[in-house]
Amino acid sequence: MKKYALPVLMLAVFEAVAVTLWLTKDNIFYLFNFSYIGCSIALGVFLFIRKYEHARRIVQLLVGLYMLVYLGLICRENMQIEGFWYYLFTGVFEAATIHYAVAKIFGPLIFGRGWCGYACWTAMVLDFLPYKVPARPGKKLGWIRYITFALSLIFVSALFLAHVGNIERIMFLAFIIGNALYYAVGIILAFSLKDNRAFCKYICPVTVFLKPMSYFALLRVTCDREKCISCGKCRRVCPMNVDVTDNSRKRKNGTECILCMECVKNCPKGAL
Ligand code: SF4
Ligand code: SF4
Ligand code: SF4
Repeated sequence: MKKYALPVLMLAVFEAVAVTLWLTKDNIFYLFNFSYIGCSIALGVFLFIRKYEHARRIVQLLVGLYMLVYLGLICRENMQIEGFWYYLFTGVFEAATIHYAVAKIFGPLIFGRGWCGYACWTAMVLDFLPYKVPARPGKKLGWIRYITFALSLIFVSALFLAHVGNIERIMFLAFIIGNALYYAVGIILAFSLKDNRAFCKYICPVTVFLKPMSYFALLRVTCDREKCISCGKCRRVCPMNVDVTDNSRKRKNGTECILCMECVKNCPKGAL
């Protein structure tokens, strides 16, 4: 039973967040929301331990579709970075601000870029594309993320400075248009660079938060150098070009790791 400690722990962490927010915000939605996400993640970890091949994809679909369709389209919450700025500027600690705090700013101190591997609705679609492992080494285009980050901030700031009315409606439209753009750019980049995750590596503004925070992540894949035979298989299957055999936090592309566990599954010596 010891091997199932991790899914139980994940569920306990999410339940703690669910109950805390439910009681402090006096809103039962938080109990439902974080319990659902916690159960989905715990199920995925459980299936992974049972060696089910599509465990991660199941979590991606359960969480990604819930956030995109239910929270985004039905409840009309902009959970993208523009929504985060919007709620931050209005001083409201709910919806996108809580989502960002848990999944993308403080959460990565514990679970790194688990969000990117198991929950993001953009990657949920991109991971269906054919280039699961990049055909070529990464390009030095990461600076683009700072431009998209700045543009998102400028866009929402301009709405506030210009005292535009009905910002809620604009934020909903921005959610739809923003997602359509993300998908279009992500798919075009994936095919042109032969890399499903090119959008994540070069364009996604959220990585401005995710990368530095995940540098300190508690949960990370490490290599047992005693067992490793330097076959290089882990690097060949990694979608993010991480040098996972280097245990230092400064490992090559270390903050790109999305904890997909492809390296762990493929290591012939069980060294990871
Ligand atoms: S880098 Fe951005 S688009 Fe890619 S999985 Fe993470 S949050 Fe989603
Ligand atoms: S796949 Fe395993 S044995 Fe091969 S280099 Fe990576 S950690 Fe070492
Ligand atoms: S293959 Fe391993 S190193 Fe690469 S992203 Fe997945 S978990 Fe991280």
